[in-house]
Amino acid sequence: MICRPSDNNPAPRRWCLLLFIAALSLCVSAAAGRAYAAPRAVVKEIRHWSNPSYTRVVISLDRKAAYAPHLLKKDPKINKPWRRLYIDIKGARLGPGIHRAIHIDDGLLKKARAGQYDRDTVRVVLDTESIEDYKIFPLSDPFRIVIDVTGGKGALPAAGRASTAKKPVPSTEGASLREQLGLKVRTIVIDAGHGGRDPGAVGKRGLKEKTVTLKIARMLKARLKKDLDAKIILTRKTDVYIPLEERTAIANSRDADLFISIHINSSPRRAASGVETYILNISNNDEAKRVAARENATSTRSASDLEYILSDLIKTVNNNDSARLAESVHGRLVSSLKSRYSKIRSNGVKGAPFYVLVGTKMPSILVEASFISNPREERRLRDQRYLRTVVDGIAEGVIRYIKQINDQGVV
Ligand SMILES: [Zn+2]
Repeated sequence: MICRPSDNNPAPRRWCLLLFIAALSLCVSAAAGRAYAAPRAVVKEIRHWSNPSYTRVVISLDRKAAYAPHLLKKDPKINKPWRRLYIDIKGARLGPGIHRAIHIDDGLLKKARAGQYDRDTVRVVLDTESIEDYKIFPLSDPFRIVIDVTGGKGALPAAGRASTAKKPVPSTEGASLREQLGLKVRTIVIDAGHGGRDPGAVGKRGLKEKTVTLKIARMLKARLKKDLDAKIILTRKTDVYIPLEERTAIANSRDADLFISIHINSSPRRAASGVETYILNISNNDEAKRVAARENATSTRSASDLEYILSDLIKTVNNNDSARLAESVHGRLVSSLKSRYSKIRSNGVKGAPFYVLVGTKMPSILVEASFISNPREERRLRDQRYLRTVVDGIAEGVIRYIKQINDQGVV
């Protein structure tokens, strides 16, 4: 309808005015509705992994939201024998189909409950039985809040040496070297990077990082089994997607003594080549930050934010054991490759904020075993003999590290 004001006929002018007011009010109410609905983040899922001394709870949201943890002491008025840890997530609502009560009952946490506390606040309550400490931190892309709870009974050890110290160590008299080493390090978790819908880096000729890491992880398991009387656990045995925080949770909840995450590097510079080994740390190196951002599937900005948020957590972690493991594995990996191949480059042991290493309770490293973006190394990574040489180097480094702590009587 076109309104043409006419002095001769005032009726259309009134119509126009009425229509204009109606349209304006519709626009205002629509805008107000959008403004009200848009900022609320949706709590989509709550997952957990646990054992009697450790539980990781992960709250997944569809966007970033502010949160605040609160630890309540046991309230005598509430006739229940547990304390409560609750997290208020601001500007959030519960998504449809979310499980509001998750029974955990691992001796540490009884259950996790999620509720809409008020219109803008989702409250997640963890009913605990023997909580000793907890850590909470965010991961991004997608946004999630990770809560690591450690318990009083058989509290989680700070490092592998402590975890083995609490276990009764039988006499090693008459035991083979293989058995002796297995007594010092009983469980090793090997993490094959990426998988499923996450291919990792892809080479110019189509080789996928996820395929190579799985091959290396499987071969490394078999190789370590030969030399160590230890349990070797793979975070994935097939081509499946596993979130980074779940990989860490597997290692912690299985009481692993060592954690080794296997990756293949990639760079926009095709000439970039060689191997490098990482531990969790703050990084001053742009290249290391770039590697961490790629492996975290996030931006370098998010990696820097994580460094800032985790700086206290990272600083307090006892990284000495991880650094010794990294030096040992890196040294043997480089010498193993150099003994059989030319143009092998060592890029050294470095620190960077890798999500998959955050919160690990045992010596933990991430190995970038060659560059898939380098044509020569992509070709080599297709060759079983090259992978065997990589695996031999990593395995020798792990065994040398265990022998070192054995000889020094650390455990
Ligand atoms: Zn990777």
